[in-house]
Amino acid sequence: LSDRLSGVFERLTKQGALSEDDVKTALREVRVALLEADVSLPVARDFVKAVQDKATGQAVTKSVTPGQQVVKIVHDELVHVLTGDEDPGKLKVDNPPAPILMVGLQGSGKTTTTAKLAKRLKEREGKKVLMASLDVNRPAAMEQLQILGVQIGVDTLPIVKGESPVQIAKRAKTQASLGGYDVYMLDTAGRLHIDAELIQQAAEVRDVANPRETLLVVDGLTGQDAVNVATEFDDKIGVSGVVLTRMDGDGRGGAALSMRAVTGKPIRFVGLGEKMDAIEEFHAERIAGRILGMGDIVSLVEKAQETIEAEQAERMMKRFQKGRFNMNDMKMQLEQMQKMGGMEGIMGMMPGMKKAAKQMENAGIDESVFKRQVALINSMTRKERANPQILQASRKKRIAKGAGLEVSELNQLLKMQRQMADMMKKMGKMGKGGALKQAMK
Ligand code: GDP
Ligand code: MG
Repeated sequence: LSDRLSGVFERLTKQGALSEDDVKTALREVRVALLEADVSLPVARDFVKAVQDKATGQAVTKSVTPGQQVVKIVHDELVHVLTGDEDPGKLKVDNPPAPILMVGLQGSGKTTTTAKLAKRLKEREGKKVLMASLDVNRPAAMEQLQILGVQIGVDTLPIVKGESPVQIAKRAKTQASLGGYDVYMLDTAGRLHIDAELIQQAAEVRDVANPRETLLVVDGLTGQDAVNVATEFDDKIGVSGVVLTRMDGDGRGGAALSMRAVTGKPIRFVGLGEKMDAIEEFHAERIAGRILGMGDIVSLVEKAQETIEAEQAERMMKRFQKGRFNMNDMKMQLEQMQKMGGMEGIMGMMPGMKKAAKQMENAGIDESVFKRQVALINSMTRKERANPQILQASRKKRIAKGAGLEVSELNQLLKMQRQMADMMKKMGKMGKGGALKQAMK
């Protein structure tokens, strides 16, 4: 995709904002990429439409092409759509014994995932876990879980031949209570395809156990069929999250996007191999990068934006060292602060601002104040911005009125700017290097 995109945009030399045509051309390619990654058609269509609305009119960063910029926007939107749970790796296992029900098609990785999650719960949260296999169909399925249990040091419910899944679930529940377990996990049987009997069985087990979590295990290589599977299971059984397995293979992860978009269920974990440690909580960025297959472009665009910010900071630093700090600088500072969500960000970028930022924070200056101050600066003329000392009463009145604010607020802004200019002058005198760094601490 990245090759195709750069081809499309080779002829495009203009900079500035993304035009509707730029965006459309790039998104045609993105749509193909989504379909190639097994995203279902309606989901891909909706997604592209949403991105189109967002991207048109956005400013293009100086050192990247419009095509790369669109990809970045697409990537960010993918991450946005894929992100479901704030903390996908946190299973709800309070109120012991907490039941976890594992459902999914045969061979999707339920038994393996059951053991992987049990190991995680035991090792990371110190939980005492009991695992039970309800798979009465497949020969040796119960033994498979038992063997994994021994391997990871987690108890399994003793095997009793001839019981029904519901009977096993009941016995697991009793055993979990009596044995003082924090969690019990029910590994159900699957089928090659969804059928009424499978669903019926899972529903009965659900009613017996009343699970805190019902995790649907889906093979990440399944592709589009995953949407039907997820929809069906969620409608009939109710699902609290999805585990996407076999993401160590060459599946692109398009199923994840489709399932998330159609069912709204969060992806919670990703299986990355057959080993018991090969599972991690879901990271939207990783899947987004995979779906697009172009992590490098995304990081390139991010880098370009960083570079520009760093260049800006350096230019300002030079001005400050000469003792210059007018309203243009002030505005840039204020906007930077707003963008970075407050004082913290600016501190990292400009060590010299640390003290001033602290003072402002102590004085109770918040985001809305930034916005009003920027509005004040915006209603100044160029001359006034460059030389704020020329502001007399009549000019002040005009500026305040232009911003719809009081003169007192403008005075506050002027005071702040003078203080900062003073500080910059002092720092400038100390010169570059050690002394300056020292003073900033
Ligand atoms: P179940 O029928 O749903 O219980 O599926 P199993 O847990 O028995 O898994 C079927 C096969 O898939 C086994 O050979 C597992 O080792 C393998 N498997 C499960 N999860 C993963 C994964 O994330 N990556 C890979 N490569 N193999 C997996
Ligand atoms: Mg199994």
